Amino acid sequence: SGKFFVGGNWKCNGNSESIKKLVDDLNSAKLEDDVDVVVAPPFVYIPQVVSTLTKRIDVAGQNSWTGKGGAFTGEISADMLADVGSKWVILGHSERRHILGESSDTIGKKSAYAATKDLGIIACVGEKLEERESGRTLDVVSDQLQAFADSLPDWSNVVIAYEPVWAIGTGKVATPEQAQEVHAAIRKWLSEKVSPEVASKTRIIYGGSVNGPNSSELAKREDIDGFLVGGASLKGPEFATIINSVT
Ligand code: 13P
Repeated sequence: SGKFFVGGNWKCNGNSESIKKLVDDLNSAKLEDDVDVVVAPPFVYIPQVVSTLTKRIDVAGQNSWTGKGGAFTGEISADMLADVGSKWVILGHSERRHILGESSDTIGKKSAYAATKDLGIIACVGEKLEERESGRTLDVVSDQLQAFADSLPDWSNVVIAYEPVWAIGTGKVATPEQAQEVHAAIRKWLSEKVSPEVASKTRIIYGGSVNGPNSSELAKREDIDGFLVGGASLKGPEFATIINSVT
């Protein structure tokens, strides 16, 4: 449902030179028209990327603060992201939740504030391995979704990224069946807890060890509306292959 959406989360990688090359590669790649493409560079490189990247591709922040700013050392506000040309922000990424200790409550506050600045939100959810193995995947994902639902004024500018923690950066991609099962459950949750209209319009993208060779099988599944790509988004030609896996 909706236009295919592919995000590249560059995480804490790159330098001026490697990012120049990546942008050059993306600018010269042949990309399918019918795909929304967004890249999320480290904050300090956003101005460089916005000014050099073709207008075809939008830019996202990888995080933003809960409010407009002030005495919050090390934080970046949604106002600042918008000011330098970002159109999106990734919130609730598992590395923020589990390495930086962000709670769903904090992520909700960040989402509520970013929405007031007209930033699109890439809202990330996903279970850890032990949660999957103990049969709690859908409970965990539902709780994370509820925190977004409680804080977002509407869903028109939101993309949900399902990223099982055990698949991130591990090379252990979810099978198309595993991903489809959770995506369908997320859509059902949206239909019941938000509205059938939001369920049918909201894009649900998959992240976790997506690469050039595995993206097309995943893309065929009914409820997989795109990808959030980490490692493979640092290589322009491979990222282009993933973008072009739209069916
Ligand atoms: P990898 O594609 O490197 O597994 O990372 C996925 C991810 O966390 C995207 O946000």
